[in-house]
Amino acid sequence: MHIEGLPLLSDNYAWVLTPQSGNGCAVVDPSEAGPVIEFLESRDLRLEVILATHHHWDHTGGIAGLLEFFPEAKVFASEIDAKHFAGTTDFIGDGDVFELFAEEVHCLHVPGHTLGAVAFYCPKSKAVFTGDTLFTAGCGRLFEGTPEQLCHSLLKIRELPEDVLVYCGHEYTQKNLNYALHVEPENAAVQARLAEVDNQRAQGRPTVPALLKTECETNPFLRSDDGALQAAKGCSDAVSLFAHLRRGRDSF
Ligand SMILES: [Zn+2]
Repeated sequence: MHIEGLPLLSDNYAWVLTPQSGNGCAVVDPSEAGPVIEFLESRDLRLEVILATHHHWDHTGGIAGLLEFFPEAKVFASEIDAKHFAGTTDFIGDGDVFELFAEEVHCLHVPGHTLGAVAFYCPKSKAVFTGDTLFTAGCGRLFEGTPEQLCHSLLKIRELPEDVLVYCGHEYTQKNLNYALHVEPENAAVQARLAEVDNQRAQGRPTVPALLKTECETNPFLRSDDGALQAAKGCSDAVSLFAHLRRGRDSF
């Protein structure tokens, strides 16, 4: 599949997935319909599938408008989150696998940001769509779940192969890396990534997607089980370190 980012609202990304051939396509997390329809028309693409990582309006706000334009499109969302918006045709849960453009899509239930949040993992394309659960260099806020849930959800995503690219829902990398550096001022990998991201942003370039390997090295929320980091922050286990880091980020 070919994957292209579509910047929407102030800092959201919808992801447009197209197969090697044909004019079908899928869209992940369309926050608004108008710009998506405009983009698809400019490419002569027909929307067949919508994937919703979670129910927040800035990820699902475009679904109704898209379905008016493409009434045949299927909408995949978790049973738990789907009750918050209309249009879901295929209710998915943890471990479900479905086919999209001759590729497998694996559903991972990753609660915490919302209770029904899911990540869509495409092994063949080496891509994972994480919505607002795992951000590049950070993670989503705890709107509905517990620190324990989100901590375990992130460690679950970390189990994927390290050459997978993380496609998240917002352009937050720069702010997240500034926080990562605040957490660990001496971390050379964070320093180097921040310099690179500062440069990309100065040129108006996107910083998403990012390799999971890079995330494992520079995203403090993926390192909550790191004993040295726990000790440095006076925490005794992964969940308490995660909660400590998340609280710090909320007020950063
Ligand atoms: Zn959200």
